[in-house]
Amino acid sequence: MSGQKIGIVGSGLIGRAWAMLFASAGYRVQLYDILESQVTTALAELRKELQQLESKGRLRGELSAERQYALISGCIQLEQLVQDALHIQECVPEQLELKRSLYAQLDELLEPQTVVASSTSTFMPSLYTEPLKRRSQMLVAHPLNPPYFIPLVELVPAPWTNTEAVERTRTLMLALGQRPVVLKREIQGFATNRIQYAILNEVWRLVAAGIISVADADRVLSDGLGMRYALMGSLETAHLNAPGGVSDYFQRFGGEIAAVSATYGPTPNVCAESETLAEIARQCEQLVPLEALGQRRAARDEFLTRLSELKRQL
Ligand code: NAD
Repeated sequence: MSGQKIGIVGSGLIGRAWAMLFASAGYRVQLYDILESQVTTALAELRKELQQLESKGRLRGELSAERQYALISGCIQLEQLVQDALHIQECVPEQLELKRSLYAQLDELLEPQTVVASSTSTFMPSLYTEPLKRRSQMLVAHPLNPPYFIPLVELVPAPWTNTEAVERTRTLMLALGQRPVVLKREIQGFATNRIQYAILNEVWRLVAAGIISVADADRVLSDGLGMRYALMGSLETAHLNAPGGVSDYFQRFGGEIAAVSATYGPTPNVCAESETLAEIARQCEQLVPLEALGQRRAARDEFLTRLSELKRQL
């Protein structure tokens, strides 16, 4: 499929990352935005970023930075973007009404061969595709930030999404070197955020109860569980942790798991202003002052880059 056209709607953080991923695999990429200035900036930034990655030896794919850049163009007309597109990756801001109006526009323009995937982190595809004629060609392909270094993409179909559209998007993601997972049906939070929020809730409860500090709660993940999870998930971890595999694991430890789980208590109210939130913020800012967030993000991205290189060697 390499050489075919990919349309990207929205040239912000995630749109640019997708542009780089598709170009790295030899696809022709067209970036669309409502603001012409945004497209111009995005193209200039992309060129710089591709060159920087190349100079550090971290450029993905077989083509040079210049050849990858040559595959990327900009446009400010949706009609032009959809023409002959194999796949459109939607990356507009996370506002439901905005997505609804954009998908209604796309619905009038889409050609029968084009699949549209949303990068949305939160909206189930049925929320903005239900009334559309071409809804069977639409699904979610949710990346994690930064997508260039984190390979996971969650594919989430609406109840009416064609299985062929899901399968074609899965194959496309694999061609980019990403690692897609497919949800059989849509669910709020998809899989990643459901698991992420379960962890956040328990960390919140432990800190709220004064049992552990923010730094130590985070270290349970970064110096403990996360070391394993970068290689294998929680079920394979269980499978390896008992002589007879996962069935043996749950026979041995299931009672303890159930007993501990019964003590979790209600879901904490993380939305409201609270003493717990103030305390978590105080401790987080002691660890990383607000003015140092940029530096810490850069350290995270450098680490993720090296980790993704290591994982590719395994
Ligand atoms: P962003 O604000 O960086 O970029 C959004 C871009 O969309 C901007 O360039 C804006 O001009 C453009 N835009 C706005 N309205 C538009 C329209 N009607 N048509 C075309 N372009 C339009 O946002 P982002 O962080 O790149 O997020 C985009 C999507 O990716 C969201 O759905 C978000 O949930 C998802 N996502 C974000 C992250 C993340 O960490 N930022 C991670 C995973 C998924």
